[in-house]
Amino acid sequence: MFGRFLRLYKQTLLTINLDSPSIKIIEKNDNRVVMEFKNIPRQYVNALRRLSISEVPTFAIDDVVMLENSSVMHDEAVVHRLGLIPLRTDFQRFVLPDLCECKSTLGCSRCRVMLVLDSEASDKTKVVTSGELISEDDMVKPISKEIPIIVLAPGQKLKFEAYARLGTGKDHAKWQPTSAAVVKDGKNEDESILLIETTGSLTAQETVMAALNRLAFKMKEFNNLLQTSMVTSKA
Ligand SMILES: [Zn+2]
Repeated sequence: MFGRFLRLYKQTLLTINLDSPSIKIIEKNDNRVVMEFKNIPRQYVNALRRLSISEVPTFAIDDVVMLENSSVMHDEAVVHRLGLIPLRTDFQRFVLPDLCECKSTLGCSRCRVMLVLDSEASDKTKVVTSGELISEDDMVKPISKEIPIIVLAPGQKLKFEAYARLGTGKDHAKWQPTSAAVVKDGKNEDESILLIETTGSLTAQETVMAALNRLAFKMKEFNNLLQTSMVTSKA
């Protein structure tokens, strides 16, 4: 069974006709990139799309210690809303909690960022927005100050400590960097178009580059696995 798979894999490698493959950027700004792939198998383009959605890590609020909430909204509802606020992400300085050496449930400065909020409506109704969240990190903060979190009536208070961590879309949609990720047909038969739009937590370019790295890593792992299996099956 496995031998047959190996033969198929070798045949596939030989039959992929990468006749002058090319990638062209058709459109690019911070949050959106459109690329044209020519003579590159559609599966590879689709793998990039899927990895952009589910395996490129971003920051999101993951844990909240509610210190005071006299609003009409339950704690759980506030926490859910906080999780959906896109946070600017830097995955060069930080690691996923599972991969961090601290092995602590609370986390450390390499695997989490704390954001605090302390807000009160005095004599008028007040809309609390993401701009009131104060982050301990200069970079990891909401991508906009205008995202509404809650409405407080006069006298009501909201105070909490929130912990943001890196995660991937595979675990929860709140960690997806993409707001749109589509593969379309190009003008010619040998062309496909990849469109990636991000929430702002990462730029579109950062997202695609990270997906490419992920794909390369997976291909290497797959190759290693095949090599080991070939050695084992020969023995
Ligand atoms: Zn840590």
